[in-house]
Amino acid sequence: MRVKDGAAHLAQLDRDRAVYLDGTLVTRVADHPAFANGCRSAAALYDFQARPENVEWMTFDTGTGRRANRAWQMPRSYDDLVANRVAMTAWAEQHGGFMGRSPDHLSCCISGQIMGIEVFERHGARFADAYRDYYRYARDNDVFLTYVIINPQADRSKAWGEQASEDLTCRIVDEDGDGITVRGAKMLGTSAIMAEEIFVANLQPLQEGEEDLAVCFAMPLDAGGIKILSRKSYEQNAVTPWDNPLSYRFDENDALIYFDDVKVPWERVFVFRDIDMCRAQFHDTPGHVYQNYQAQIRYTVKMKFLLAITRRITETVGTIKMPAVRERLGQMASQIGVAEGLLYGMEAAGTRYGDYFVPKKNLLYAATAYTQGLYPQFVTEIRELAGGGLIMLPSSAADLADPELAGVFDTVLVSAREGEDAYDRIKFLKLAWDAVGSEFASRHTQYEMFYNGAQFVTRGHTFRTYDWAGAERILNAFLEGNDTAWAAGGARGTSRKGAE
Ligand SMILES: Cc1cc2nc3c(=O)[nH]c(=O)nc-3n(C[C@H](O)[C@H](O)[C@H](O)COP(=O)(O)OP(=O)(O)OC[C@H]3O[C@@H](n4cnc5c(N)ncnc54)[C@H](O)[C@@H]3O)c2cc1C
Repeated sequence: MRVKDGAAHLAQLDRDRAVYLDGTLVTRVADHPAFANGCRSAAALYDFQARPENVEWMTFDTGTGRRANRAWQMPRSYDDLVANRVAMTAWAEQHGGFMGRSPDHLSCCISGQIMGIEVFERHGARFADAYRDYYRYARDNDVFLTYVIINPQADRSKAWGEQASEDLTCRIVDEDGDGITVRGAKMLGTSAIMAEEIFVANLQPLQEGEEDLAVCFAMPLDAGGIKILSRKSYEQNAVTPWDNPLSYRFDENDALIYFDDVKVPWERVFVFRDIDMCRAQFHDTPGHVYQNYQAQIRYTVKMKFLLAITRRITETVGTIKMPAVRERLGQMASQIGVAEGLLYGMEAAGTRYGDYFVPKKNLLYAATAYTQGLYPQFVTEIRELAGGGLIMLPSSAADLADPELAGVFDTVLVSAREGEDAYDRIKFLKLAWDAVGSEFASRHTQYEMFYNGAQFVTRGHTFRTYDWAGAERILNAFLEGNDTAWAAGGARGTSRKGAE
């Protein structure tokens, strides 16, 4: 049975798209020094799932003669959910959690929304049909999608419609019997340089009068008029794979996406001029919960990877046996334990949504609010435990080839780890720096702080979904009991109870 592999993914990239980098137009990303390794890291994920020993548990039978990654499978039970988590964990371990928008993120987003397809039925049968067909197409072809669901930052004190130019934010500028035309920007498409298609929606609230912006659709990234404005490539600026092992391989990129009069056929339009539907597609379906469930799985893998780096740092610099250092490592391990526990908890306390079984909403939001705040603290703690060792490194691997310098390094860059020499110390600390200190690492801190919205947004979700009634029940019972105790004590006064 057919399973997508890495070659199939690279073949999808073998067509012209419009990526702009350093003043030039790049059309073939898979061969370009700024993007080639990132593309290959994505392809490696498909190769992993296509290995004979992995096919059964990494993919599922779609019933169409093809198998697809498990993230496209809509879980009907707790066991299905856990099986999906096992597959997503295995993918995340291939990149240490450093590819935030690996293909399973969007598979979960779309699968989650399709679990609530009746919400789209209420919006209009033709939109629900279009979305259902699109899900089948994307699932059966194991399409690598990314999304842009946030509007350009611009001036946050103004509504989108009040900004200086009408063409700032992606909006509908025309429609005819074939489809709609859209013009304007969406803020950021991570992985847009190497995904096959882009999903466009509005996660942030829109206001009445902004109906032109209220649209959701999906298009191939090589469609006419889609401009992918890349940020600086960390991959291209990586010195060697040895010096920058993460930047070199896993720079998934982020790009501003400008829709320059892009024609979208009706069969690719899922929400049309409906402000409330833009909210409902994420929040009245399991879509938002399920996409962030994948994100929490990836995050947990990444934090374990970082924790292993932290412990290794303390072994390398010889502080591991110090009680104060062990206490700090214990604190970090407990923080990761909380994140991991929330993941298992949201599964164990999962809820039914129609035929499906989905993670418990309020625990998912508790996890997102907690983990986004934890990441920068964690990175600071790693740097604190490392000291200047992260910086006291040769400029590049080339220095090690000079016998005279190599002798100095052997004498000075000593490792406290049993059996390790200067080479091992340098190799490891270069990885550690690329994980927490390099420009690539710094972007990752920004990513974990914002990929799911600013803190006031994620805390707002937690406030909205928390089981306040359950907490208040305990408080109310206590207060009732207090009344009884007060009356039993024969106390009297001028309050309402006392006057009775
Ligand atoms: C590395 C990276 C990758 C990303 N990838 C994607 C992607 O693939 N797809 C996608 O759609 N988006 C992506 N994003 C965008 C991300 O979703 C947004 O950054 C996020 O939603 C926050 O929006 P913003 O950046 O406009 O910040 P803003 O909303 O402008 O917030 C910035 C800060 O301003 C303050 N602030 C603003 N408004 C308020 C308020 N009302 N109350 C209180 N404080 C306020 C807060 O301090 C807040 O932290 C990515 C972002 C990053 C950094």
